[in-house]
Amino acid sequence: MSTDVLAQLIASLASGSIKVVDLSQNLSPSTPVIGLPPPFAQSAPFRMETISRYDDVGPGWYWNNISLGEHTGTHFDAPIHWVTGRDIPAGSTDTIAPGRFAAPACVIDCEAECAADAGFLLTRAGLLAWEAKHGRIPAGSWVLLRSGWSKRAGDAFLNVGEGGPVTPGPDTDCVRFMVEERDVIGFGTETVGTDAGQAFMFEPAFPCHTMMHGSGRFGLASLAGLDQLPPTGALLITPPLKIEGGSGSPCRVLALVTA
Ligand code: MN
Repeated sequence: MSTDVLAQLIASLASGSIKVVDLSQNLSPSTPVIGLPPPFAQSAPFRMETISRYDDVGPGWYWNNISLGEHTGTHFDAPIHWVTGRDIPAGSTDTIAPGRFAAPACVIDCEAECAADAGFLLTRAGLLAWEAKHGRIPAGSWVLLRSGWSKRAGDAFLNVGEGGPVTPGPDTDCVRFMVEERDVIGFGTETVGTDAGQAFMFEPAFPCHTMMHGSGRFGLASLAGLDQLPPTGALLITPPLKIEGGSGSPCRVLALVTA
C-alpha cells in the first residue's frame, strides 16, 4: 500500500472505508429564513425561476435563475458578518484562506436536552462534561451543537413565540470558553443561526456572533445529519461561494467519516 496520505484517502473513498456525509438542507422557496423585528431590514427568501426547460426558449437545456440572502438555508458565516469582525483581515467569503475550509469537528449531542427544553443552552460545564468522555476539543476544531433541530420544519423550526424565538444555542460563557480556551475555528448549529433564539437578551447580545466573528472565527447554521457523525474524528468541508466581499454564503457542507 502506498504510504502517501492523499493516495490512501483516495483509495479509502473508493472502497467506502471513508464515507462522505451530507450535512446540508435542501434549498427551496420553503427554506426557513430568520425574521428580524422592525426597524431592521429582512433577508429575502430563496427564489427560483426557470429560464428554459427543454422548451421553445431552450429546447435542449434546462436552467434556472436563483436569488437568495447570503444567510439562507445551510450556510457559512464569515467574520465580516458581524460588526465586531468588520476589520478582521481576510474576513470575507472571497478572502478567507481556503485551507480553513477543511477542519475537524467535535459533535456535542444535546438532542435529549433540546427535546426537553427548546431553549436549551450549551454551557462551559456541558463542554467540559463532553471532554471528560471524548477528550479535549482540539485547537482549530469546529464545535457542532447536535440538537435534532433539523428534523423540525416550518414554524416549528423557527419556533417564534410571544417572547421571540426559542431555539438552542451556546450561552455567553460557553462561547468565551470555545474562543479563548479552546481556540476553535467556529461553531455550528442545526438552527437558523449560531446564537440561541433568546440571545438578543444575553450580555453581550448575540455572543456567538459577537465573539466568534470578532476573533476571526466562523459559523455554520441550518446543518442537518449531525446524528450521522461520531463525537470526534469527522473532517468537515465547508467552502462558501466566493462572493466578493461576501458576509457568508449558502454552503454544501460535507463531512468525511470513517465507515
Ligand atoms: Mn448566518
